Amino acid sequence: MRGLVNVDLTPTFATRIGAAIATQPKAKKALVARDTRTSGLMLQNALTSGLTASGVDVIDMGIIPTPVLAFMTRKMNADVGIMITASHNPPQYNGIKIFTSDGMSYTEKDQKKIEKTLTHKRFNLADWQNIGETKRSEDSQVYLKEIERAVKLHRKWNIIVDPGCGATFDLAPRLLKNLGCRVIPFNAQPDGFFPARSPEPNEHSLKSLAATVATIGADLGIAYDGDGDRVAFIDEEGKTVDFDRVLAAYAACVAEKYDGGLIVTNVEASMCIEKMAQRHGAKVMRTKVGDVYLSEAMKKNNAIFGGEPCGAWIHPQFHYCPDGILSSALLLKALEDENKKLTQMIAETPKYQTLRRNIACPNETKHDIVKRFSENFVNIFPHVNTVSKVDGIRVSFEDGWILVRASGTEPLIRLTVEGESLKTAKNIMKKGLMLIKKSLEK
Ligand code: MG
Repeated sequence: MRGLVNVDLTPTFATRIGAAIATQPKAKKALVARDTRTSGLMLQNALTSGLTASGVDVIDMGIIPTPVLAFMTRKMNADVGIMITASHNPPQYNGIKIFTSDGMSYTEKDQKKIEKTLTHKRFNLADWQNIGETKRSEDSQVYLKEIERAVKLHRKWNIIVDPGCGATFDLAPRLLKNLGCRVIPFNAQPDGFFPARSPEPNEHSLKSLAATVATIGADLGIAYDGDGDRVAFIDEEGKTVDFDRVLAAYAACVAEKYDGGLIVTNVEASMCIEKMAQRHGAKVMRTKVGDVYLSEAMKKNNAIFGGEPCGAWIHPQFHYCPDGILSSALLLKALEDENKKLTQMIAETPKYQTLRRNIACPNETKHDIVKRFSENFVNIFPHVNTVSKVDGIRVSFEDGWILVRASGTEPLIRLTVEGESLKTAKNIMKKGLMLIKKSLEK
């Protein structure tokens, strides 16, 4: 659930969500936390009212990153974990993200149950003797201790850590210092107005971090999104590292360590992840876009690593929530193990060309057009490697792939193409567009 504060997401609604969660069977103990947004405490208080009114005991974890909340939900044997965050969205937004007792994000099926309770307003309110209690906890130390036990760094890395005024403001610099790094905190004051940069880390929002890394001569710049499940890296030359290539490069390190295994990514990620996985005998599985789909597939198929090119990486050895802080510690460890600079590690990953096009198409027909593409693509693409229908249709070839999807919200068909060269990408796009346009004319 995500939306504009006091427009889509009001305290009244948050209270009802709290009561709906508490009405599910087996809900007795809930962990609740928030990111740094100005509306965070207001919504948390409202949500807590709904939970306690229905007899659930609430542990208030304060401001912590989403992955820490997910991790602590399992550690503290809570029945449910609830994070108040709008992740990488602008400050006027907020949202509510729910985790199960084993720290997994709620699936569509889990969410439907909450929605049903919300629609029918069948809340189990407790009688006055059984109203839930609220306690404050500072136990997120357990999270730091567990990573410190598992990740040992030997080099004294010079790094600049940029929480962007979000939820990682305290834990990220602290962890990296504890691991022995020389940390310069950057935008590390909690501030729900996000005055320093957008909560979404990308090349544009990280310009000043990149310039600072270059000026200071740091080994690395590390930046997180608003709630710390995503991470972005700046290399030692002060350049924002391509998200797809660093994902593939790190996936290769994991595959090498495990001598093969399964890596999970989404349908939009670059094929460089397959190329890198193949080098170490690993296989790649693709899911719909969205970390919940990755987590589900990873757990079911016992994957060794998974990640999306937005910087959300999942490390199943620790837990199934994308974790930016953990990802940054593990990337440093991988660089150390391979004795490489970040630019050297990335240089081994091939660079491909991506093209995107949106075609206007009425909502009523967009799904039919995608279906028609999936029935007819063999006529224009005779040499197909694999076909995936987890999200729209994705057809891969020896030297590229095309993804055709109906937009979830707009009257559009989205085409994404990647090719080993720009010429190849353009050629695939041209053929794809031709086929779509032909179906539109019919
Ligand atoms: Mg996020």
